[in-house]
Amino acid sequence: MAGSTPLVARPRIGVLALQGDFREHIASLTELGADVVPLRRAEEISALDGVVIPGGESSVMDKLARAFGVAEPLSEAIRAGLPTYGTCAGMIMLSTRIQDGIAGQRTLGVLDTTVRRNAFGSQNDSFEIDIPMPALGEAPVHAVFIRAPVVAEHGADVEVLGALPDGQVVAVQQGNAIASAFHPEVAGEDRFHRRFLDLVRSA
Ligand code: GLN
Repeated sequence: MAGSTPLVARPRIGVLALQGDFREHIASLTELGADVVPLRRAEEISALDGVVIPGGESSVMDKLARAFGVAEPLSEAIRAGLPTYGTCAGMIMLSTRIQDGIAGQRTLGVLDTTVRRNAFGSQNDSFEIDIPMPALGEAPVHAVFIRAPVVAEHGADVEVLGALPDGQVVAVQQGNAIASAFHPEVAGEDRFHRRFLDLVRSA
């Protein structure tokens, strides 16, 4: 295009838009200057610089992703290095192992983690808490948990970005993949999305 030769192109980000709170992620990433598109079909993956997997219901997202033929190519692209960020159900989708999944529930098998679904039970299924996460900056992260999972186990290559006061791991990174059990996209917290876009720009 004549007259526009940006040094850093606007990264093109796909938000998996089969189910869940993809609209909130689209809004957060658009606000940060990304070119954001809903991702629903396998053919759309190759045009992306990064992909976000939203919160929602992981068992439904898994079924839809497989029914639409997007699960396998998406898993392959992410495992080959396409930067990704998953929140809540998205964290479950990125994990390799699940506890308390529904029968036959599968994931994209990206992170060397075991997540436990609905880890806080029905008594305490939604809550908010400020969590110090030095990797994200000085101010604590205001974390909104909604029927959230936790990372029950993780391999040595997984960096813990955040944990609850009792030690339960709720935010991790492994290579180009970031995941949080909570929802920055509903809390006006943009540092996870910024970190993800930094990964995209340096990928
Ligand atoms: N409990 C949901 C699941 O298992 C996740 C909830 C969420 O994404 N807010 O997928």
